[in-house]
Amino acid sequence: MSKNLIERLNKGPVICAEGFLFEIERRGYMSSGEFVPMVSLEHPEALETLHKDFQHAGSDIVEAFTYNGHREKMKVIGKEELIEPLNRAALKIARKVADLKSTGPKPNLMAGNISNSNIWNDKDKKTHLQVEKMFNEMIGWAVDEGADMLIGETYYYAEEAFKALEVMKKTKLPTVITIAPMAEDIMRDGYNIVDTCKELEQRGADVVGMNCFRGPATMLPYLKEIKKQVKCHVAALPIPVRTNKKYTTWFNLPDRDDCSCGAPHGRTFPTALEPLLCNRYEIGQFAKDAYKIGINYLGVCCLGNPMLVREVAHAVGLTVPASKYREKMENHFMYGKDIPKHMKDYGNKA
Ligand SMILES: [Zn+2]
Repeated sequence: MSKNLIERLNKGPVICAEGFLFEIERRGYMSSGEFVPMVSLEHPEALETLHKDFQHAGSDIVEAFTYNGHREKMKVIGKEELIEPLNRAALKIARKVADLKSTGPKPNLMAGNISNSNIWNDKDKKTHLQVEKMFNEMIGWAVDEGADMLIGETYYYAEEAFKALEVMKKTKLPTVITIAPMAEDIMRDGYNIVDTCKELEQRGADVVGMNCFRGPATMLPYLKEIKKQVKCHVAALPIPVRTNKKYTTWFNLPDRDDCSCGAPHGRTFPTALEPLLCNRYEIGQFAKDAYKIGINYLGVCCLGNPMLVREVAHAVGLTVPASKYREKMENHFMYGKDIPKHMKDYGNKA
């Protein structure tokens, strides 16, 4: 199979696991709230394991975990001097895992990654220069460390996404750029969501689409529109969260009524979202629906995990290493077909 992303997408589905931030935090290697990916330096083995788990589950892409690994965030924690070692370590780990034979028969693609800076301000041109510098250095390291492709993601300012694309395009590597509009349902600098994707295509992006902040219910309607309006490949990477018409993103999503102890900061985001998660079947259905309308670049973003990545792969007909351990309810102690009658009959009372 080709190592070229576009050739792969032309032939069929390509799976990309994202959401490293939340999964690494959940595994105990990162502070929530602060969210700096020091893991590539402090616990490289944990990051390598997570990458392997995602590959085992069917991700074709090994996205280097450099989300938030940019100069401004490193300044916040007073470790700016570690920015280059951190980026290079994350890229090297991703390259290593992509080249492993043990995670599946195909060659996997290593992706360099830049994302929303959180300092971009449409009304302050100085911040645009700062962000451009950050993007330039990170993309430089990604190319140095042998990236096969580049991903720019989670942009909620259209012009920050345009800037990311401009920097990525200088490398000639295939580019994926995905946006993450907030609950106002418009980019923060006033661009329409679908128009932003059209413009990204015009400016030469190979793949455009959406990632993060929104669950299947509030992302799919936009994806359908984007798919109609662009000719390039479209990417779909929702969060596995039950966002809805009233709360289109996870930032203000209220808990269920039976919550007995809410988060001290007063919102479910980012540490108390578990009761609002989609189940695996909902994620599978989303992947099926997206694939049916011609979206070939599929994945799960924050709060995703290897099980959900496998679900996406299965939804589009792929067999992956973790397929060996797919659901086998026929052997369940209560649902199975050859289980003792006294257990089967007890099911409804259990
Ligand atoms: Zn995310």
